[in-house]
Amino acid sequence: MKSFNLNIAELIQFSPGFIGLQGRRLLLHDLSTLGQFRKDLINTVGSAMAQRILTRKGLFWGQADAAAMQRLFTWDSKAEMIKAAPELIKILGLAYAGIHSFEFDTIPKKLSMTITCADSAEVEEYRNELGKSDGSVCWVITGYLSGYVSYCLGSEVYFKETKCQGAEGDDCIFTGKDIESWGNEFRKDQSFFVAEDFHTKVQELSRRIKEQQRNLAISRKQLLAAKKSDLLLGIEVRSKTFQNVITFADRVASVDSTLLITGETGSGKEVIARYIHDNSPRKKYPFLAVNCSALPETLLENELFGHKAGSFTGAKSDEVGLFEAARHGTIFLDEIGDISPMIQVKLLRVLQSKEIRAIGDTKTQTVDVRVISATNRDLDTLVAEGKFREDLLYRLRVLHIELPPLRERTEDILPLARSILDKLILKMNSRNLHLAPETVDILCSYSWPGNVRELENALEHAAVLSTDGCITPSVLPSSTTSGSSGVSGEQKFTALSDLEMSHIYSILQKTNGNRAKAAQLLNISESTLYRRLRKFKK
Ligand SMILES: [Zn+2]
Repeated sequence: MKSFNLNIAELIQFSPGFIGLQGRRLLLHDLSTLGQFRKDLINTVGSAMAQRILTRKGLFWGQADAAAMQRLFTWDSKAEMIKAAPELIKILGLAYAGIHSFEFDTIPKKLSMTITCADSAEVEEYRNELGKSDGSVCWVITGYLSGYVSYCLGSEVYFKETKCQGAEGDDCIFTGKDIESWGNEFRKDQSFFVAEDFHTKVQELSRRIKEQQRNLAISRKQLLAAKKSDLLLGIEVRSKTFQNVITFADRVASVDSTLLITGETGSGKEVIARYIHDNSPRKKYPFLAVNCSALPETLLENELFGHKAGSFTGAKSDEVGLFEAARHGTIFLDEIGDISPMIQVKLLRVLQSKEIRAIGDTKTQTVDVRVISATNRDLDTLVAEGKFREDLLYRLRVLHIELPPLRERTEDILPLARSILDKLILKMNSRNLHLAPETVDILCSYSWPGNVRELENALEHAAVLSTDGCITPSVLPSSTTSGSSGVSGEQKFTALSDLEMSHIYSILQKTNGNRAKAAQLLNISESTLYRRLRKFKK
């Protein structure tokens, strides 16, 4: 038998439900499903593992075909049987294959051959599903040739696709050599022919999964423990009123209703809104905040709903609004009490129908966004005055959180102040910042009309002025130390008491807050010192 006489079609028997090749069962298989399978395989196990699996599939196939060829025909020589490999590739429909070069010595067994393939089915299969490749894609053919020729010779022969049409050119070129002739050059490619130790791999994977589950359980516990001690964003919460707020916020996070947060300026409405978003099922999606009072009506409308190109002068291209940008996430509308009647109507429509319409657009589109709004104004009064739509208020206030002002949760001032100083140390790249004992008293007795924000500003002001990192009352803003409710001005006219105060504080600073020692230095009694200090704080 000579290789060019091979016509396998003559040997195939077709009968209903069975295709056979001299007793061996064959399948007719559609190419496009193989392409989908390959894509799935690459996505599931990665390209290198997919290459290994498909190469080995080809390897088994080539070995089986070689065994059949040996059984069916009496070959003129080993070389003739080996040369039948490209004929088989053609018959199987894998590619239009031909031998380019062939060198074979029987003693010692040395083989070197090059096979070229045009119109490879694997290239077509790969291109249809995955497009142009970076390198070789004819993994099954590579395996097939290796399996076939190795079986013929009874020793290891490996093929390597040195050029593939899937990446460039018109042909695929396969170079085959016996393992000794390959030497080190083939070491890397050999891994594609070796079976992965799946058992060990699966064991290793399940060990890693178990370990991750354990770590997850630990961190979940830690998180829960942190919540129990009522930490909000890493700050200890001591007051009962604010602890209640956090407990409620935790519950609110798991439901999807609209929420209104009310509270004085600076009381942390956005912080709570973000906390709720971060603990909600929407946490993977955006949290977008907008201050409604900061923008004039038309700009706010544009910001919220976006616009179509050409809808107004200067609208050069389509622009997406916050409602669309926050898709699946949360939108935070701060200062909601300040929005105009026109925006109120538009917002009501969003809440009623979950649909938005960009400026200049004829079509509406559905949005899936949780709305959290906030205000420091009394919306019920605004409704009574006819300035705010009642129906909108009902839609916004399905859930309601009222944030207590800082003066009603004085226990939280100190932990807050310390956490703010920690942040300032980082922000200002500064040395240690710490509160002088007298400062602690002042911070806790001041009324903080500007709430947490005012506390932040006061401490930043103090940190900038402090020369040694110690936050003494003398470096705090005068509004804080004069005891007025944040409106400074009077301070300038009380120069004498001011002087007295700063002198007392500088002495206290020198004595590290030791009042007995400070009183001694000031030549007054300790009780007088207390009275003076108390006076300053008021
Ligand atoms: Zn190829």
